[in-house]
Amino acid sequence: MQLIDGKATSKAIKAEIKTEVDSLVLAGHRPPHLAAILVGHDGGSETYVAYKIKDCEEVGFKSSLVRFEDDVKEEVLLEKICELNGDPGLDGFIVQLPLPDHINEQKVIETINPKKDVDGFHPLNVGRTVIGLPSFVSATPFGIIELLKRYHIETSGKHCVVVGRSNIVGRPMSILMSQKSINATVTVAHSRTKDLETLCASADILIAALGAPGFIKEHMVKEGAVVIDVGTTRVPSSETKSGFRLKGDVIFEEVAPKCSYITPVPGGVGPMTRVSLLSNTLLAAKGNIYS
Ligand code: NAP
Repeated sequence: MQLIDGKATSKAIKAEIKTEVDSLVLAGHRPPHLAAILVGHDGGSETYVAYKIKDCEEVGFKSSLVRFEDDVKEEVLLEKICELNGDPGLDGFIVQLPLPDHINEQKVIETINPKKDVDGFHPLNVGRTVIGLPSFVSATPFGIIELLKRYHIETSGKHCVVVGRSNIVGRPMSILMSQKSINATVTVAHSRTKDLETLCASADILIAALGAPGFIKEHMVKEGAVVIDVGTTRVPSSETKSGFRLKGDVIFEEVAPKCSYITPVPGGVGPMTRVSLLSNTLLAAKGNIYS
């Protein structure tokens, strides 16, 4: 069994990005600039945005944080998005989700200029991904594909089972795995899938993105399978300072001995999600997606 080290891989990618940023700046360009819009004070969202800002600093990007209180009116948020859409000094921005209930999330996503949609959530980017055009791909699937490539994992002709069909993970993951450059044969499973255990056990590549800690057990994994654990559920823990720890969708200790490759939680997919936002921002700054 080989452990897929997302932490080390993301570190290597960050170093590559930093090198590119240094050459851009040396050539007289301004550094790439990412902004984040944060509504309210949700603990998880605050942490994620703080990470994003820290990541930007590490690779030499400029970053900006735009804050609104929980009760911000939808039209005020949309106006700000339109302002950022037109800001020539900004390459990309994200609106940290989830948003308060009174704000229509889909409307927010669709107001973002697709050329600056570095989260890859806008339907234009999703559609371009589906038909294999250059696009901003949502960060988690982007990061997983990068892991498979960098570990030279054979995907062609393999049966890939993706458990989960969310718009940000499962669905785009299944699309990417079926593309001509990857060539896997893909099955998408969800909460209504029948005989999920047998289906998972038939996978050469099993991607678990359910958010159900410890759901994937030893008998659900084929000998020699590649297992990618996307799940990150916070569970209470007396052993950490924060009072919680992250638990994956896979029972690692049971499943790992059967695998050819497996991602740990934490240290697998999570760091790759973070670095993929930087990769998308660099692509936006270089005008690589929409030229
Ligand atoms: P989500 O929107 O809640 O979607 C979960 C998906 O799993 C749904 O499609 C759901 O099916 C399916 N599902 C749930 N329980 C199931 C069950 N018992 N059997 C079969 N399918 C089941 O979640 P998400 O945003 O995709 O995130 C999934 C997990 O990944 C979460 O733990 C999240 O925290 C984590 N995550 C991690 C990263 C990272 O960087 N590591 C990034 C994003 C998300 P239905 O469609 O039928 O409801």
